[in-house]
Parts: sequence; C-alpha cells; structure tokens
Amino acid sequence: MKPLYSALLSLQELDDRIAAAEARLMEFEPQLREVEAPLVALRAEVEGAGGRLDELRGQVQRLEEAGEQKRQRLRQYEERLRVRNTREEASARIELDLIRRAVQADEQEAAQTRDQATRTDLRLDELTKQLERKQEELAPQIGEISAKRDELASEIDALREQRTQQAKEIEAQALRLYERVRSGRSRRGLAPLTDEGACGNCYNVLPVQEQVQIRSGSALHRCEACGVILYTA
Ligand SMILES: [Zn+2]
Repeated sequence: MKPLYSALLSLQELDDRIAAAEARLMEFEPQLREVEAPLVALRAEVEGAGGRLDELRGQVQRLEEAGEQKRQRLRQYEERLRVRNTREEASARIELDLIRRAVQADEQEAAQTRDQATRTDLRLDELTKQLERKQEELAPQIGEISAKRDELASEIDALREQRTQQAKEIEAQALRLYERVRSGRSRRGLAPLTDEGACGNCYNVLPVQEQVQIRSGSALHRCEACGVILYTA
C-alpha cells in the first residue's frame, strides 16, 4: 500500500476512535443529570422558600410602617380632641374609632404574617439541611461519574493531539479531500475496493477502467455512488 493510503487510514482510525469516545462522553451528561435530579429539585425548593421568606418579611415591614402611620394619626386626633367643642368631639370620636380598628387590623395581619415568616424560616432551615445531606450522600457518585468523564475528556484531548500530528503527515490536498468526504453523509473517509471490484462502503460495482486506476494507486479515486476514497490493500 502506498504511504498516502496508509497515512489516511491511520487518520481515519484516529477519527473513528475520537468519534466513539465523544459519543461515550455525551452519555455522561444524562447520567449526571439523573443523579443530580434530587439536588436540583431541592435547590429549587430552597430558592422558593427563600423568596417566600423575603416576601413575607417585606410584608411585615410594610404592615408595621402602615400601623405606625395610623398610630401617629391617632395621636394627632387625640390631641385635637382635647381642644374641640362637644359637637366636633362626637364626629372626631367616630373617626378615632375607625383608625383604632384599622390599627388593630394591621397589627393582627402583621402578627399572622410574622408567624408565616417564622414557619417559612424553619422550613427553609429544614430544606437547607436536607440539601446538604443529599449533597453529601450523592457526592461520591457524582465524583465518580465526573472523574470518569474527565478521564475520557483527557483521552480525547490526547487523541486529538495525535490526530493533529498524523494530519501533518498527509499532503494538504489529500487531507482536504479526506475531510470533505468524511464530513459527508457516510461519515467515512476511506473504504477498500473489494476483490470483486465493488466499493467496500456501499458495494457499488465500479467500471473495470476505474478499478484499474484504483489498483494502480496513482491518484485518489472516489466511489461515484457514496463518495468514499477507495484503496486497495
Ligand atoms: Zn461507495
């Protein structure tokens, strides 16, 4: 076999190994997602509870501020009441009662919201602990999968480096042709010509004249049907 063909075949072998390793690498992602699913769910719950807690605390603050404003108004009314006559006093007392009831309602709502905030805070604590426990529990499994994935990723890096070196052995025009063929539908760059004179990839039988050209190995020859570069052993 001419050196060009054996160099191209070595390149193809490397490309096949890289493609297979990359396919295996892809399988780690769904594996990791599956193992990490409970963590993702717990993190979402923690985040949800944290958001709810912030909301409730904001609500408590607003209610406390509203209550404080009403109490201020109440004090102003009480002040004025002291200097008014009897007729004015009656209507002022009604106003006062209204504000007092509004203050009570605010205080009650603030107390309830504070209770809710406390419960949410406890729930958040519990969820955070659950998450920490789950993280600890799953850490070895996640670590193992990640380690395997990283190992495979560095294997792929090494293969790519090897491929770069191998590609340097091949003249530019032949390399471009190989890469164009390989990026096509069949994903294969080279195939042997069978003893019967057929393409080893798609089994299309070639005209005798072409078979002779391929056997002579004088120029790279492609199968007309599937496009792979044909060679003889
Ligand atoms: Zn073919």
